[in-house]
Amino acid sequence: MYPQAFHYHRASSLKEAATMLVQLGEEAKLLAGGQSLIPLMKLRFASPQHLVDLNFIPGTSYVKEENGALQFGALTRHAEIENSATAGEIPIIHDCAAGIADAQVRNRGTIGGSIAEADPSGDWATVLLTQAAEVRCLGPGADSERTVPLNQFITDAYTTVLAHGELVSEIVVKIPPKGTGGAYLAFKRTAPVYPTASAAVQLSMDGDVCKDAAIALGCVGLTAIKATEAEATLRGQQITDRVIAAAMEAARAAADPQPDMRGSAEYKRALVSALVKRAIEIAMRRARGEQVEASHIYA
Ligand SMILES: Cc1cc2nc3c(=O)[nH]c(=O)nc-3n(C[C@H](O)[C@H](O)[C@H](O)COP(=O)(O)OP(=O)(O)OC[C@H]3O[C@@H](n4cnc5c(N)ncnc54)[C@H](O)[C@@H]3O)c2cc1C
Repeated sequence: MYPQAFHYHRASSLKEAATMLVQLGEEAKLLAGGQSLIPLMKLRFASPQHLVDLNFIPGTSYVKEENGALQFGALTRHAEIENSATAGEIPIIHDCAAGIADAQVRNRGTIGGSIAEADPSGDWATVLLTQAAEVRCLGPGADSERTVPLNQFITDAYTTVLAHGELVSEIVVKIPPKGTGGAYLAFKRTAPVYPTASAAVQLSMDGDVCKDAAIALGCVGLTAIKATEAEATLRGQQITDRVIAAAMEAARAAADPQPDMRGSAEYKRALVSALVKRAIEIAMRRARGEQVEASHIYA
């Protein structure tokens, strides 16, 4: 189906885009990669009267390292992150970017659009929750910049703290210190679809003992879920099969999935707990300095 007719506007700066949103009113929407918005418009689930295109704004697509953190411009495409040696410094980031859908979607879709869309099945929020990521937001006014921790940015399915007239300008992720390792794994029916379930694990190790752990579960709730009980089962422990089994059980309990065409709630709980186990194993090896390729699991 064709989308309903709309007015097209091209912004030349992020500030101008924010100002346009305010001037054009509630019926205006930003256009980034269009990989979520355009399908919704074609299905007529969204019919904005105005689209403000961000794609021609210079200097909004980058991966930079500064003060021990990686900065991702809002318009940075998944493919650019997948192929960035700088982003590869945090292997779990590469796992995420490289596993999103297919090359066509990765070449258009942006990290800023994904975070702003807050799709419960999206990959970025799950991974970035384990990295204590921050979202830089920008409005039209002179003092309208603010930085929001990701765990406060997404408040519900498809819902964020962004006000109308505010946009995502950058995402910042601290580079984890030596002795840490992370992994992100998803179970997918085929490459170009969203995962059925996913798990992100970041471990800080001292030999065989886990000093700290961050675990987030994707596609098994209205937002990505921080599995704090599962994290607690690992913290301060030598990672044995028994400890991993306890983390798996805690992850299963933390999941709150809806049954749908991808599977029953119980099936998704079983999946997510198995993914946590595999992600812990890869994260431990990476924390030891091993180069480990992580690939999603396809049905
Ligand atoms: C076939 C297919 C398969 C997909 N599979 C996956 C998958 O496996 N995993 C996954 O994570 N994603 C998947 N996606 C979604 C893809 O990652 C999108 O790129 C992403 O969800 C949205 O990013 P976008 O840049 O395309 O945003 P758009 O579609 O342009 O915008 C999405 C929403 O965010 C708003 N927005 C955009 N940029 C900003 C900004 N800077 N500030 C504030 N608001 C903004 C828009 O107004 C709109 O409401 C898939 C998409 C398709 C079409």
